[in-house]
Amino acid sequence: MTGLDLLAKTGSRGLFIGGQWRESGSGKRFEVHDPADESVITDVADGDTSDAMAALDAAVAAQTEWAASAPRERGEILRRSFDAIMDQADDFAELLSLEMGKTLAEAKGEVTYGAEFFRWFSEEAVRVHGRWMQAPAGGSRLLTIRKPVGPCLFITPWNFPLAMGTRKIGPAIAAGCTMIVKPAELTPLTMLALANTLTEAGLPGGVLNVVTTSDSKSLSATLMADERLRKVSFTGSTPVGKVLVRQSADELQRMSMELGGNAPFVVFEDADVEAAVDGAMIAKMRNMGEACTAANRFLVHESVAAEFADLLGQRMGALRTGRGQDAGTDVGPLINADAVDSVAQLVTDAVHDGAELVTGGSAPDGPGHFFQPTVLLGVPAGSRIVNEEIFGPVAPITTFSSDEEAIELANATEYGLASYVYTRDLARTIKVAEAFQYGMVGVNTGLVSNPAAPFGGVKASGFGREGGFEGIEEYLDTTYVAIPV
Ligand code: NAD
Repeated sequence: MTGLDLLAKTGSRGLFIGGQWRESGSGKRFEVHDPADESVITDVADGDTSDAMAALDAAVAAQTEWAASAPRERGEILRRSFDAIMDQADDFAELLSLEMGKTLAEAKGEVTYGAEFFRWFSEEAVRVHGRWMQAPAGGSRLLTIRKPVGPCLFITPWNFPLAMGTRKIGPAIAAGCTMIVKPAELTPLTMLALANTLTEAGLPGGVLNVVTTSDSKSLSATLMADERLRKVSFTGSTPVGKVLVRQSADELQRMSMELGGNAPFVVFEDADVEAAVDGAMIAKMRNMGEACTAANRFLVHESVAAEFADLLGQRMGALRTGRGQDAGTDVGPLINADAVDSVAQLVTDAVHDGAELVTGGSAPDGPGHFFQPTVLLGVPAGSRIVNEEIFGPVAPITTFSSDEEAIELANATEYGLASYVYTRDLARTIKVAEAFQYGMVGVNTGLVSNPAAPFGGVKASGFGREGGFEGIEEYLDTTYVAIPV
């Protein structure tokens, strides 16, 4: 089987509503393109607001019975889905590599990571419990009951077409919520295949509904204006997240916001520089730099900056760009032409601001949306490239001379998602972890994502956590019951 065979199981790639595949009400469809050569992979149904309302009707109709289902039953559906994804890991990897561009090895990594949320939350489904206590003054018992929040809307980005969905779907299923998933229009295919896998694993109709659309804005506005929708979980850019938070005010939906990042990667003078370069390659180049956790700024102590830049330049310069499905490709294409233009402009501006180009620096001729792995040294703190999300394979290096300066530079951003620090000093590690205004700190590692850990940010990177024990809390309400005795 191949990735496209996996997709063929969904029939004509329609909308998945109430357990049925169907065309959009308008009959319209939109194309999905291969970022490696701009060819059309296939097309999918283009859902409109009436389709969205049909999906909400289905989610609402399924909610009561689903909430009353046995936690073990929900957990076992997730566990079977985990097994099924892992059994078909190569096919899922191929499908998401095709639509998103990442290499097959990276795609396989996403499949393993994404599926793990189903295994983790299959285990959490049976560990939801309330409490029983005596009132401090005596005379009453205070009970708490945990209940699913109700029908949810999930809006996901294109950079991790599987994992950004499973991080929400897993805990929602475990908690007993029904849902509508609106995948990114650039990469809707993997989510269709996933809906089919969950259905084969026994998920009842109406619990998960998938609406693909080229008009996410109208769809979300319509759904969020309906009081029956109780929760929105969004992963994407900060500007769109702000629109959705404002939009949630009228019906006061509960919100989870996984937004943009501007991760600092700090290398202190006592660091193992070679290990730091290994970590930098992961933190920077995972997903071609198109990750919210991507190291966006390398802050390196002035005494080791030249060595770090030289080693990183060699490693980055040796990477081969190419089609994600070809053997020998290290770095796939960026998602589209706008992404390449935006990265190229950031590099041009940084060089104009005085940065030195160590390697790379430009986009090869098309077809395909490629950009050379690039290292810049001596990037001034005010340069646009260290203040905006790069979302591409570019590593800007800035130097510092004291711990205080490193902490100040690291925190000098509106964002607060991932951060990385390389040092061999335990006291310094603790000082930095406490001072960093970030939701996540990686110590001597370039990878923080783990389904068993609470993933999320502070400040403009949003609020709420996905994964860990915290992940399921986003999908539970608390009812307190007072019983005088
Ligand atoms: P985006 O905000 O453009 O789009 C995200 C999703 O929102 C897509 O499904 C899109 O169709 C939809 N959307 C766009 N405008 C909308 C609107 N007005 N109303 C409702 N929905 C709308 O982001 P993107 O370009 O797909 O993804 C990249 C961004 O996602 C980056 O900023 C990245 O840092 C962030 N991201 C964050 C995390 C995290 O966990 N914090 C993970 C991955 C990506």
